Amino acid sequence: MISITSQSVLKNSNLVVVKVGSVLVHDKQNDNINQKWVDSLAEDICRLVKRGKKIVVISSGSVALGRKSLNISSNTPPKNIPLAQKQAASSVGQYHVFNGYFKALAKHNITAAQVLLTMSETENRRMNLNARETLYTLLDHGIVPIINENDTVSTGEIRFGDNDRLSVRVGQMICANTVILLSTADGLYTDNPDKNLLAEHIAFIDNITEEHIKMAGDAIPGLSTGGMKSKVEAALSATKSGINLIITDGQENHSLINIFDNPSKKSSLFIAQKCDNNARKIWLGAHMSPKGSVTIDDGALRALNNGSSLLPVGISFIDGNFSRGDVIKILNSSGHKIGMGVSAYSSHDARKIMGCNSKDIQDILGYTGRPDFIHRNDMVLE
Ligand code: GLU
Repeated sequence: MISITSQSVLKNSNLVVVKVGSVLVHDKQNDNINQKWVDSLAEDICRLVKRGKKIVVISSGSVALGRKSLNISSNTPPKNIPLAQKQAASSVGQYHVFNGYFKALAKHNITAAQVLLTMSETENRRMNLNARETLYTLLDHGIVPIINENDTVSTGEIRFGDNDRLSVRVGQMICANTVILLSTADGLYTDNPDKNLLAEHIAFIDNITEEHIKMAGDAIPGLSTGGMKSKVEAALSATKSGINLIITDGQENHSLINIFDNPSKKSSLFIAQKCDNNARKIWLGAHMSPKGSVTIDDGALRALNNGSSLLPVGISFIDGNFSRGDVIKILNSSGHKIGMGVSAYSSHDARKIMGCNSKDIQDILGYTGRPDFIHRNDMVLE
């Protein structure tokens, strides 16, 4: 039997998203960019590009590298820094992050492009497509995109918050084969390895369960924003949309090339699920801020499971305020989310036609709308 390893998966991955955690780019001792480490990453990227791989980097570090200008102690965990200060620190530090990559890649005659994204942009289909086109164009020109969240304008609910999620979102946007999360952790353990010496490392996960999420725990190390839990949740989203995800320790120089080439490099590989969804459906399923929800009855649920569209007659409740074309959650009669879809009606009109036969829509609303409330092609079920 041929076993699947991080190396075998990466051999067949042509488009790879590499996420770099703050701790790796920030040299804590000198409170500066860890240029040596960034240089080693750039060397690895150059070797991979020569093999025909396309690499997109998502790098954190802007808050960590901007702290001192805002007089924020290096011991304050990110979650304790007031949002406005974090945003200001990020706008100072982002220059240092990008400059570090730019200089390092330039030594190999590779151009780096700075791309700052917000969640609300990637949730919007048109902007998502624009960002995708930009990234494809850069990659076609041999340019390496260096991406971060646009922290200055991202607040509260419209924030990715941690770059684990952003990396997967970018992976979904460009249909990457694999996302690699480089951090201080070499993977998922059965328990917190810092506290439990008997905790066992898990190298291969082909089906993420609640159990795995529990194993990850809630601890968030040092300057990081996300802990192991956010990584496993990111893995869940990635694998559902057909993308592999690898967690590995990036602290040593040349960790990136090692995870491609060296079978003894420790990692956790979350293997992609078979996924027939096209890019639009992947975008839809990964939507993080749906505008409302529709609760359906058991008959409608059966129809959906048999491949039908959702008709107004099967709707029992509408929640939230949304417009025609917005993405909403689909809930079953016990309130569990079973999918996402694009609504053909506003919540205002939907409340008037719910439970009604489609042929009565014209009489109720005074215009001829679509017979289905969410068309099959505009829906993903979990
Ligand atoms: N965007 C934040 C930064 O660059 C990082 C978020 C994260 O650590 O995941 O500092």
